[in-house]
Amino acid sequence: METIKTCPVCGSDFAAKRSTAVYCSPACRKASQRKRQLEEDSGHLIQVIKMAPPRPVKPKPATVDNIADAVMMARAASTSLNRYALSCAPALRAVCLKAALGIDEALSEAGL
Ligand SMILES: [Zn+2]
Repeated sequence: METIKTCPVCGSDFAAKRSTAVYCSPACRKASQRKRQLEEDSGHLIQVIKMAPPRPVKPKPATVDNIADAVMMARAASTSLNRYALSCAPALRAVCLKAALGIDEALSEAGL
């Protein structure tokens, strides 16, 4: 017996041949699987970021040029995080946007 169900991926109604059917097509089932995998990977990536040791930074003298360079690197990091947020999984998007905002606010508070 067929039942009409709504595919959670594409939103179209379809005649389910089995009671356990969830998706309208193999393509939608695969798309859902890829999305889940991407979100799991994002969770993994967040853990990797939190556990990563700090990069060894060779100390530089506190000259105006070196300070300006560090500020420019912070701005570039914020820009990169905002761009990554456009194309990454939702779980990681929030992290990227929050980190970028934190950098921007810190620079702004410092008058930069
Ligand atoms: Zn579908």
